[in-house]
Amino acid sequence: MIKIAFFDTKPYEQEVFEKCCKENMEIKFMEHKLNRSTVDSAKGCDVVCAFVNDILDTEVMKELNRLGVKLIAMRCAGFNNLDLNALDGLRVARVPAYSPYAVAEHAIAMLLILNRKIHKAYNRTREYNFSLNGLTGVDLHGKTMGVVGTGTIGRVFIDICRGFGLKIIAYDPYPQPNIEYTDLDTLFRESDFISLHCPLTDDSYHLANGRRFEMMKSTAILINTSRGALVDSGALVEALWNKQLRAVALDVYEEEAGYFFEDCSGEVVDDAMLQLLVSMPNVLITSHQAFLTEEALLNIASTTINNIEEFFTEGKITHEVTAKS
Ligand code: NAD
Repeated sequence: MIKIAFFDTKPYEQEVFEKCCKENMEIKFMEHKLNRSTVDSAKGCDVVCAFVNDILDTEVMKELNRLGVKLIAMRCAGFNNLDLNALDGLRVARVPAYSPYAVAEHAIAMLLILNRKIHKAYNRTREYNFSLNGLTGVDLHGKTMGVVGTGTIGRVFIDICRGFGLKIIAYDPYPQPNIEYTDLDTLFRESDFISLHCPLTDDSYHLANGRRFEMMKSTAILINTSRGALVDSGALVEALWNKQLRAVALDVYEEEAGYFFEDCSGEVVDDAMLQLLVSMPNVLITSHQAFLTEEALLNIASTTINNIEEFFTEGKITHEVTAKS
């Protein structure tokens, strides 16, 4: 029997993983996240199944090795929360793509909501306030969308944007055909809307920062559905105060761990930056929700289970993550 320690379980995941699980696998579903203080709950398990806000640092890796865990099966695409230099024999699998449509469609939904102020209109009409004052948006047609990262999700996002008649400019160190590329500064300077679709790396950390907010059009909208730390939140708050951009949509936030995915409505959220962002009428925040479609959940579960099966039956991992990744 292959025993799997499943951290940070949510009901919508448990249901689909139970459906996809093979007969020779046993999943121990746990609500808590994986970190130094919880790593011991992987004891007796062959696999750790972790998600975006679990912390797999050097200490956790050491302990997983000591406990005899063989495989870390990430049920997500990103792996910036793992210390890959501390694997020491542990192998890592991930789900490289589960539904680029889910994330790209969420990004465009956030843009449409912010631009046409649907979030405000929804609240108004619930109180029988049918006034249109302050709800004016702009046509997307003919405007310029700057796309940072033209991988799987970025390219689906570009296809959707082209349907709206947006002109696309992009930045990616590995260009693709049929896309107009430019450097990052030009992208920030010339775009009416900017959407981030690149991974979080040393190079991309805080790529949206104070210097670049100064370059943005004051009418521009920034959308981040990738990883929180692509955006310098402190500089973003200042830029919003200084009206250096019109609005921002965040599905991710650099200090999201501990809040996102959780119901914190009964407590005081002790993150002043998050409180400031939530309080602003031109900031739309969703809680790392972009991936959350039925299709994506099914693909995540089936690919994760296949990764585990492949490793234990054939000893190989098609979707492996290594220190060189
Ligand atoms: P991908 O690997 O297919 O594409 C990423 C692209 O980014 C590649 O083309 C790569 O060359 C490019 N890139 C790398 N470094 C860059 C840099 N410094 N600047 C600009 N581009 C750079 O990944 P994907 O499947 O398209 O996913 C993109 C990101 O979306 C993931 O890294 C993940 O962080 C995020 N994501 C978020 C959610 C969510 O629910 N919010 C879900 C899935 C993925």
